Amino acid sequence: MEKRPFPHQVRQLAPDDSFQFRCHAGMPCFNECCRLLELALSPYDVLRLKGALGISARQFLDQYAVVEQADEAGFPQVYLAMLDDGRGSCPFVTKQGCTVYADRPAACRTYPLGRGAFRTASGELKNIHVLLSEPHCQGGHEEQSQSIGDWEGEQGLALYNNFNDQAIAILHHERMRQGMEPSAAQRQTYLATLYDLDGFGQSLLQEGAKAGHGLSAREKQDLLADSSALLAFGFKWLNQELFDAGE
Ligand code: SF4
Ligand code: SF4
Repeated sequence: MEKRPFPHQVRQLAPDDSFQFRCHAGMPCFNECCRLLELALSPYDVLRLKGALGISARQFLDQYAVVEQADEAGFPQVYLAMLDDGRGSCPFVTKQGCTVYADRPAACRTYPLGRGAFRTASGELKNIHVLLSEPHCQGGHEEQSQSIGDWEGEQGLALYNNFNDQAIAILHHERMRQGMEPSAAQRQTYLATLYDLDGFGQSLLQEGAKAGHGLSAREKQDLLADSSALLAFGFKWLNQELFDAGE
């Protein structure tokens, strides 16, 4: 299968920069962005997609995801499994557009921007934005111009960015920056807590489950009824489990 060439221009933007871009169904390149891509999925992406499809997180991971452990020192990365159709198409793209548009992943919303979050040496969480100019995408030739903030607001990115920052707090935790290498069991706990969210929720109900320790029956039921609250709890619990235990 052909590979998408690397973007011929990646330009870092200042926080108050504007950029020229517009995308609509009448574009000659409509849907061209939905193939030949490596689409990394955050835990919140999976939460939204499995909800849109009406399936469990486990079913989503089995049917639509590829889990890779590229960096021996880090945590696993989850990608959307593209179709083997010779075009590397996203499983959710049709001629009419994206079938999960209301719940599309953060990377699809953010494009043509890319958002990177990181911790500074002093531990402060920062983010940067870059503007991608790719040959297949004609949106940058449209006249509409907008600020980064306007774009992120229009694309509904606030919750996605919030949860991504919680992931960065784990991936770039001070202990990780000091060289901590997660064990196989810790990597499994990372996936089971953040990505197999329904399984994590059910585990809270099991007698003696570590994650459920100290929660009342009512608190557990409230978490099971609100997947965003459950994910926020999962991040908090995992942070403690990975980095506080044994200190
Ligand atoms: S303008 Fe860019 S983002 Fe929009 S459909 Fe075309 S390739 Fe995709
Ligand atoms: S999820 Fe939707 S917007 Fe994102 S690549 Fe797939 S079809 Fe395109």
